Amino acid sequence: MSVQAVAAKMAEVELKDVAGKDASPAISPLTPKAEEKKSEINSSSSAAAAAAVEPSPVTTAPNPVKMPQASAMKRPDPQQNGGEAFINCDGTVAEAPRMKKIQFADQKQEFNKRPTKIGRRSLSRSISQSSTDSYSSAASYTDSSDDETSPRDKQQKNSKGNADFCIKNIKQADFGRREIEIAEQEMPALMALRKRAQGEKPLAGAKIVGCTHITAQTAVLMETLSALGAQCRWAACNIYSTQNEVAAALAEGGFSVFAWKGESEDDFWWCIDRCVNVEGWQPNMILDDGGDLTHWIYKKYPNMFKKIKGIVEESVTGVHRLYQLSKAGKLCVPAMNVNDSVTKQKFDNLYCCRESILDGLKRTTDVMFGGKQVVVCGYGEVGKGCCAALKAMGSIVYVTEIDPICALQACMDGFRLVKLNEVIRQVDIVITCTGNKNVVVREYMDRMKNGCIVCNMGHSNTEIDVASLRTPELTWERVRSQVDHVIWPDGKRIVLLAEGRLLNLSCSTVPTFVLSITATTQALALIELYNAPEGRYKQDVYLLPKKMDEYVASLHLPTFDAHLTELSDEQAKYLGLNKNGPFKPNYYRY
Ligand code: NAD
Repeated sequence: MSVQAVAAKMAEVELKDVAGKDASPAISPLTPKAEEKKSEINSSSSAAAAAAVEPSPVTTAPNPVKMPQASAMKRPDPQQNGGEAFINCDGTVAEAPRMKKIQFADQKQEFNKRPTKIGRRSLSRSISQSSTDSYSSAASYTDSSDDETSPRDKQQKNSKGNADFCIKNIKQADFGRREIEIAEQEMPALMALRKRAQGEKPLAGAKIVGCTHITAQTAVLMETLSALGAQCRWAACNIYSTQNEVAAALAEGGFSVFAWKGESEDDFWWCIDRCVNVEGWQPNMILDDGGDLTHWIYKKYPNMFKKIKGIVEESVTGVHRLYQLSKAGKLCVPAMNVNDSVTKQKFDNLYCCRESILDGLKRTTDVMFGGKQVVVCGYGEVGKGCCAALKAMGSIVYVTEIDPICALQACMDGFRLVKLNEVIRQVDIVITCTGNKNVVVREYMDRMKNGCIVCNMGHSNTEIDVASLRTPELTWERVRSQVDHVIWPDGKRIVLLAEGRLLNLSCSTVPTFVLSITATTQALALIELYNAPEGRYKQDVYLLPKKMDEYVASLHLPTFDAHLTELSDEQAKYLGLNKNGPFKPNYYRY
């Protein structure tokens, strides 16, 4: 069954519910009982401008009116620099693949570090990024485990005698189950997908190999994919972010999981290999976050692509790599770019940062925000979220911008637009959100006042010139996990958070609800690619169509008891819209 067929059936019910109407059980064969559906509902608390719409050759959904369109949008590679590709689609290696092309500079840096023991529970949620641009909500019950034995040296079995996994400690499964159940509360759309698909298994026969953060939220996704019929094998995309107890719960539940918190670089690739290189099991779908898994298969097992139906990629980095492959004509299978879905971008960047900036600052510094002078560099989605949160807490917020449009938005929102050098002596907190490099350089840090907090919410670890602080005259003092005091010869110190890496990824958690939106998009992308008839998707990178974005949003509305207005026939005609969407053109900016 194709995603649109599933989605259409689900959307019929969901959209009606959202509009406050009763759904007829006859409408959705996937809905076992109307009462069940009702109780479930009651309990559930960009680049597109230039996108060309790929014609959808096959449309099989029973209700064309409410059906999210199946064919995805092709998006041109936003990156101007051509990439290097290394594999032929027939599986022969044309040119030796190079690890460095796949591996992020800062990933390498992370790999070279061993995890440090973390003292305070409240600070123990730190993660750094192997996958640098997606999230993990890694609140871990079992971080304080003293067991130093490498999971690779342990023989473990779950209660059913299954040993096809490698995790820290299977005995932690009960704690992990609790974490997963908590996450389920905030992931209503996945839970709805599970219930709606009872009886229908749109992923029956799918063998999904995944490489993402292994957290409670991912577990909810994996268990949803399994409920939809898929078999899964999973590794972590980040050496620090695995919630060990969650991995244990998944292993206890029969999932082949290969991950633990604090993997070495060698462990990292070993775990990925154990997911892929297994007798009698070959993946036909890839769910990746960062591109490492995809790269590994390209490098080690290129013939596997003959059976793989598609790749779903979440991260900026991974998507960039896919576009590079596509541009070079070396992408062997269709790929879905989940990262650029409207529902991901808008919710991750704006709302997630609005919530997590305060969390990250508070956990690391215990700072009071009221009355503090803060400068936020960049007033894009991330900057807007940070500014809104800080303003609401009573901070005096300054903004720097290079783009007059965003600058004008900042002014209209009531922020003082300044150049960094105008305020750098007086501010208490400096936050970078530009996606740019060297926004805060040594010259500025020399002029900051004593105690100024410096952190980054933007691009990886390029925005603050941290390297310029590693000079003999400056002393570094690690005062807490992820908190360094950098001390000048005269005694002045600045407080550098997460060594300039992303504050919220390193020092706080992100809202599960935001992850739910992304996970739902991933699930729908997998269903779509897996079920698409031959030829619908070429060897290229696609966006999910806007209608699917709208569908993901609609699945989350019942949480808020939100009642969506339906267009009348007359209004739909007046606006030239289908009553059931899509409601906006691709170039709409939201
Ligand atoms: P965006 O393009 O909407 O905003 C960035 C803004 O910075 C733009 O308005 C740009 O004009 C401005 N800018 C660029 N250089 C500048 C400079 N030197 N000084 C001042 N302003 C400058 O992008 P976004 O969605 O806000 O994302 C920003 C960065 O944050 C990206 O690197 C993105 O990957 C990252 N990001 C982080 C998180 C997180 O959780 N921390 C979430 C999503 C995205």
